[in-house]
Amino acid sequence: MASLYFYYSSMDSGKSTYLLQSAHNYQSADKRVLLLAPTIDDRFGVGKITSRIGLQSDAAAIFREDDLQQLVASEHEQEYIACVMVDEAQFLTPKQVWQLSDVVDVLGIPVLCFGLRTDAFGKAFAGSEVLLSIADELTELKSICKRCEKKANMQLRLDSKGNPVKSGSQVQIGGNDSYLSVCRKHYKLLMEL
Ligand SMILES: [Zn+2]
Repeated sequence: MASLYFYYSSMDSGKSTYLLQSAHNYQSADKRVLLLAPTIDDRFGVGKITSRIGLQSDAAAIFREDDLQQLVASEHEQEYIACVMVDEAQFLTPKQVWQLSDVVDVLGIPVLCFGLRTDAFGKAFAGSEVLLSIADELTELKSICKRCEKKANMQLRLDSKGNPVKSGSQVQIGGNDSYLSVCRKHYKLLMEL
């Protein structure tokens, strides 16, 4: 039975590595995987999934207005798809998450989504909020706080001087900002909340 899976975490948890390894497992059994990458994240070029340990794969770039059920259905018609995997799933629109649930419920194809739970201000990403609400299976991929030994369930955005950014847009692409994964306690301490 097909299911909708959401693997969520803060940054640096190896989400893309886990995705690419899972895709490899299917591919080495001669099963076709459709890899999808929302185009809002173009750090590594449109339509590429890259992990921090150097693995990389081409993926179909998806745009906010794309109908994902239609896209998967037409690909599936051309050649059987065993599984759909979505990188940076936090950038999906709520509508697209529901379309992916139709890929599972109507087309019967399992969908694995990988993404960040919250942004640098402690708010859920729109795509993640719907995934956390309607996915069949939720799995947390854990990483460790950069300031202590606890689980990092938040991330801070740091400016070019290394100070936490306290307000701004949810998505910051390019620029000199970087991110620091931390536990909630250290998030509050560093954000002076
Ligand atoms: Zn900590």
